[in-house]
Amino acid sequence: MKKHAIIPVFIPHEGCPNDCVFCNQKKITARTHAEEKINIDEIASRYLSTLNNPRPEILEMAMYGGSFTGLSIEKQNEYLTAAKKYKDNGIIDRIHLSTRPDYINEEILDNLKAHGVDIIELGVQSFDDEVLKLSGRGHDSSVVYESSRMIKDYGFTLGIQLMAGLPGDTPEKAVYSARETVKIAPSIARIYPTIVIEDTKLLDMYKSGEYSPLSLDEAVEISKDMYNVLFDAGINIIRVGLKSSDIINENGEIYGSTFHPAFRQLVESRIARDKIEAQLIGQKPAGAPGSGDCGTDSPVLGIYSNSRSFSNMIGMRGANRKYFEENYPGIKFKYLKDEKLPDYSYTVISLCLP
Ligand code: SF4
Repeated sequence: MKKHAIIPVFIPHEGCPNDCVFCNQKKITARTHAEEKINIDEIASRYLSTLNNPRPEILEMAMYGGSFTGLSIEKQNEYLTAAKKYKDNGIIDRIHLSTRPDYINEEILDNLKAHGVDIIELGVQSFDDEVLKLSGRGHDSSVVYESSRMIKDYGFTLGIQLMAGLPGDTPEKAVYSARETVKIAPSIARIYPTIVIEDTKLLDMYKSGEYSPLSLDEAVEISKDMYNVLFDAGINIIRVGLKSSDIINENGEIYGSTFHPAFRQLVESRIARDKIEAQLIGQKPAGAPGSGDCGTDSPVLGIYSNSRSFSNMIGMRGANRKYFEENYPGIKFKYLKDEKLPDYSYTVISLCLP
């Protein structure tokens, strides 16, 4: 049984008068008409008809896309009243929305509370003021601390979205943003590498040479470091990278090489590689030549994970397997499952013990 499912409601750009350099909300929400009428009943009934019995343990209705609290109060209430009906009837469990840090105040939060909203995600992107300025965000980082505090004080679940590779960003600044996020202690977070898409200022900057997107490898490395900071602090990282369905790409409208449809797996596999390698480097693994454990020149090491983390351990298209073969010649590796291990945990054990 699926534990958690989301009824996605895409609210186009109409909620946001800003022009962040990276954003073409119409592309991201895969919608072409900002003025398109959103019919929550229709969206809900279409989605609910696809659900199997029993229903997921947690069913959320999530308003994605533009900055929800930037909509007129009438528009917000139209959507929220429709969503609340499903929550009041027990059809959904939570109402989830995303907005900008500078579109939060007491009046807005009172209204969201009155309509049963549970989760508010803030599109923070960076805690570095220079990055925010160069990205056209229209606010500085101070507002993030204040709005986050208010959201938590009201008892909402707080989410924070970060981006890597924005104009002016560096690996150090990206990790700083992750560390500042930990200080705020949201319950959930997302990490998005910056993607250059059509009809954005970022594309002009890219074409003029003013902006260079991250290579895929750089994006994976930086996102990995951010992920580790958030994960170690116990923050639930609900998304890493955009899904292909988030972007219209059939016309080749993505520039640079930063986008990958399975970006999260690339990041988690790289983390797995680091964790495994930390057990190999700096110590001669049991069974390695000269360790005296095996009495053989062809030691065999078992690398273990549980089933859920197995594909991360192997790596995308066997990338980690190839990496260890190439970098540790003379050692045979076996990739094995141990369901007693927690998720994202990998252990290396000599298999040539008596
Ligand atoms: S605030 Fe959000 S929706 Fe508005 S332009 Fe920026 S990224 Fe796009």
